[in-house]
Amino acid sequence: STPLASHDPEIYDCIQLEMARQYRGLEMIASENLTSRAVMECLGSALTNKYAEGEIGARYYGGTAFVDMVEKLAKERALAAFGLSADEWGVNVQPYSGSPANMAVYVGLLHPHDRIMGLHLPCGGHLTHGFYTSSKKISATSIFFESLPYHTDSEGVVDYAEMERTAAVYRPAMIIVGASAYTKDFDYERVRRLCDDVGCLLFCDMAHTAGLIAGGVLKSPFATCDVVSTTTHKSLRGPRSGMIFFRKVGRDGNATDFESRINQAVFPGLQGGPHMHQIAAIATQMKEVCAPEWKAYAAQVASNSKALAAALIEKGHVLVGNGTENHVVLWNLRQFELSGNKAEKLLDVVSISTNKNTIPGDKNALAPSGVRLGTSRLTTRGLVEDDMRVVAGFLDRAIKIGVEIQRSTGKLVKDFVAALAHNGELMDLRAEVE
Ligand code: PLP
Repeated sequence: STPLASHDPEIYDCIQLEMARQYRGLEMIASENLTSRAVMECLGSALTNKYAEGEIGARYYGGTAFVDMVEKLAKERALAAFGLSADEWGVNVQPYSGSPANMAVYVGLLHPHDRIMGLHLPCGGHLTHGFYTSSKKISATSIFFESLPYHTDSEGVVDYAEMERTAAVYRPAMIIVGASAYTKDFDYERVRRLCDDVGCLLFCDMAHTAGLIAGGVLKSPFATCDVVSTTTHKSLRGPRSGMIFFRKVGRDGNATDFESRINQAVFPGLQGGPHMHQIAAIATQMKEVCAPEWKAYAAQVASNSKALAAALIEKGHVLVGNGTENHVVLWNLRQFELSGNKAEKLLDVVSISTNKNTIPGDKNALAPSGVRLGTSRLTTRGLVEDDMRVVAGFLDRAIKIGVEIQRSTGKLVKDFVAALAHNGELMDLRAEVE
C-alpha cells in the first residue's frame, strides 16, 4: 500500500485508472507527452512545500539557499538547450504554464490596449494569441489588448501576404508567431522584415514545437525574434510549466530593458510564489534536452509524423497541408461527413486519444471537421515509422466503421455514441490497439 492508497483510496483509484488508460491505449494528443520518472520525482518532492517569491539571491522568504541552486540550474540548462548565450538572452522559468507565460509577455512588453496580431484560433492559433468571436472577447488577451488575427490559406499555410497587408494598416505593437495546430514551420525571416517595417516586436510562442527546435529539426526562432515563450510539457516532455526567453541585447546590439520588464510582469505582476517543484522538474528535463540523444528523439518524432501522414494519404485520407513538417498531423474528415466531435468519441472507444480540431473552411469553432494527431508521445514510448503505418491502419479502420455506424444512427451525436459501445468490429479493433 502507498500513503495515498491508505489515506485516500478514492483518489488513489482514480489515478490508477488514469495510469492504466494512458498505458493501454495510443495517446495521440499533439500537446501531450510522457514525462520521465526523474521529472515525476521532482514534482512529488519537498520543493512543493517551499515559498520563494522573488528571484535568485533576492527572495521575500528565508530558507531559499537550495531552491536558488535549483532555479539557477534550470535557467542555465534552459539557455543551453536552445544554444543561447547568457550574455545575449535571459530566461524566466517561473511561469506556472504556457498561458500565464504569454500573459506575462504582453503585460511586460506592451501597454494596455496595444495592438497585437496572432494566428486566428480556428486556423491553428492559441487562445492566448488574442482570440475573440463576433459576439464575445474570449481570451483575456483580447479583452486587455486589441487583437486582429492573421489567417491560413485553403492549404493550411499562413497567408503571409494577408498578414503584411493587415499589419501595414493596423500597425500592431507585436506580431505573434507560433501555433497549436499547424503543420508547417514558420517563415520567421519574412515576419521579421514585416516587424522591422512596422516597427513592432516579434514574439514566438514555440510551446508546441520547442522540443523539435531544441533538437534541430525545425528552424530556431531565436535569430529573428525579440521574445520567445514555451510550455515545457509538450514536445519538450517535461513538467507542466512555462518559460519566457527574452533578448538582453537587441538585434541592433543595444541593451534592452526586457529582463526587468518580463521578470516584473511574472512576479509581482501576475504571479506569487514560483512553483519550485516544477522548476526543479524543468531543470532535470532541460538536462535531458541538452543530452546528445535528444536530437535523435526530435528527429524520430518528425519522421514518425511524416510516416503517419504518408500512410494515411496512401489510404485515401485528406490531410491539411497534404502532410506535415513537425509533430502534428491535421486530418480532414469532410469527405466522410463525420464531424470531428464524433470522430474523437469514436477513437476514444478504440483507446486512441485525439482531439477534434478546426480545419480551413470550418465556419464554427465549436463544430470542427478535423482531428488533430500528434506523434510526440508515441515516439517517447519507442514507436517508429513501421508502427506508424500500423497506427494509420487502426485510424483508417475506425473511421470507416464510424461512417457505417453513422449511416445507421443518423445525425444525432447521442445516438452515434450509444451505438459505439455495442459495435463488435469496434470492440475487436480496441482489443488490437490495446
Ligand atoms: N501556447 C500554445 C501554442 C499552446 O498550444 C498552448 C496550449 O495548448 C499554450 C500556449 C498554453 O499552455 P497551457 O495550457 O500550459 O496554459
